[in-house]
Amino acid sequence: MLDLLIRGGQVVTPTGVGQWDVAVQGEKIVGVVLPGSLGSEAAEVIDATGKIVAPGGVEAHTHVGFPHRDNIWGNTTTAGPEDLSLAALWGGTTTMMDFAIATQPGSDDVLAAVHTHADLFPGRMYIDYSFHCSFHGPSTTTRNIPRIRELIEAGFPSIKVYTTNHAPRPNRPITMISTGQLVSVMEQAAEHGGIVAIHAEDDEVVQWNYELAREQEEWAWYYLPKIRSNLSEDLAVRRAIIVAEHTGAAMYIVHTSAREGVDAIAESRAKGHPVDGETILLYCSFNSENYKEHDGMKYHTYPSTKSEDSRLRLWDGLHRGDLNILATDAIGTSYADKIKGRTVVDVQGGNIGIEIRMGVAYSEGVVKQGMSLERYAAITSTNPAKLLGFYPQKGAIAAGSDADIVVIDPNERRTIAMEQLHIGDYNPWEGWEVQGWPTVVTLRGKVMVKDGQFMGDTSQGRLIPRKLSSAVLKGPIS
Ligand SMILES: [Zn+2]
Repeated sequence: MLDLLIRGGQVVTPTGVGQWDVAVQGEKIVGVVLPGSLGSEAAEVIDATGKIVAPGGVEAHTHVGFPHRDNIWGNTTTAGPEDLSLAALWGGTTTMMDFAIATQPGSDDVLAAVHTHADLFPGRMYIDYSFHCSFHGPSTTTRNIPRIRELIEAGFPSIKVYTTNHAPRPNRPITMISTGQLVSVMEQAAEHGGIVAIHAEDDEVVQWNYELAREQEEWAWYYLPKIRSNLSEDLAVRRAIIVAEHTGAAMYIVHTSAREGVDAIAESRAKGHPVDGETILLYCSFNSENYKEHDGMKYHTYPSTKSEDSRLRLWDGLHRGDLNILATDAIGTSYADKIKGRTVVDVQGGNIGIEIRMGVAYSEGVVKQGMSLERYAAITSTNPAKLLGFYPQKGAIAAGSDADIVVIDPNERRTIAMEQLHIGDYNPWEGWEVQGWPTVVTLRGKVMVKDGQFMGDTSQGRLIPRKLSSAVLKGPIS
């Protein structure tokens, strides 16, 4: 007898959407079959009539326990593994990515550094997970770059780099790498089957813009989009793309925020390069005008939101396939920390989008903008799974895949309210009217959320080894 049968729903599969039953045995999907053809015998049956059955969300970009170091008001650490993964699971996300700093001063052993970070997680995660391996500027050397191969072979094939530094303030951590370092990192990725994830802003432009802001007394937080400008993103994305095209490396731009960034990605993809783009729900939801509200810093995460024109281009890119990942860059910053910084140099990043991502993307994308269910599943689950090397274990409703499933009730209408969420103490989306929301979530065959009941626990989340397919390494996916 089957362990779980999800009956009667509109199922989003790799070959299209249809009315099927989804059969689960143990942790795996064992069949996607015509309704009723397996009978109704199963240890647990979920009636999904009138509902949408989609692959569990894959969140490509979160920061767990992010240390906001050396800020002018002191050190703080944001929400930990339990907090972020709890919110994720409630919201229909069953796999998430965090970041591990691979380049530690005094050691060239990048894999040991990632394992040290990973050791903090067992027993603390409600959902499955892995880590991007971050290479930070001064510690990215000729000795440890060749060891990227060890990371890829150990199941961590995504390398994260920054092309800009934090705001000019005392004791800021230095994160950016030079273009030269980027070339070497990309050569390693290209040779050994990795992908490079890039925070792309032009540091020279950004740092100069801080100087101009000081000069022109544009020091309030809401001037940040002027500093973290469209031109800065345009320059940095194009430079990264040129390096990728020369080295043959697969790469994607994280948190793409500007029209120019999307255009640059689209051009490289049209030439057949394995170049892609992520954007985040915050940038799709708000624009730089929102910053002018009295606590408008709550809409900020780095780089920054841009104009309405760019916001619309982000959605357009998600529809057309210029951007293939809708992530959140979730960092569980508290409201108090969020609003402490009131100038362009001390506003804190972070947002709580991880819980509402699947629901808001459905409501905004599918209901309001007519996005197909296939495309919805692609940007929230399938494509992040492919680009990060989880696929087809994750990101698909197909025989052999993990039974990570989200059932969305398209008729569920709600007003997003802080007291219904499971993360944080502020909410930029407060009061949003949405239609369609996850009501059932399974992780590897276990029902974790069902109609408001929560069965998850922190012993369930598992570190998933990853490997990129040759399709992802060789050309653009869609
Ligand atoms: Zn980030």
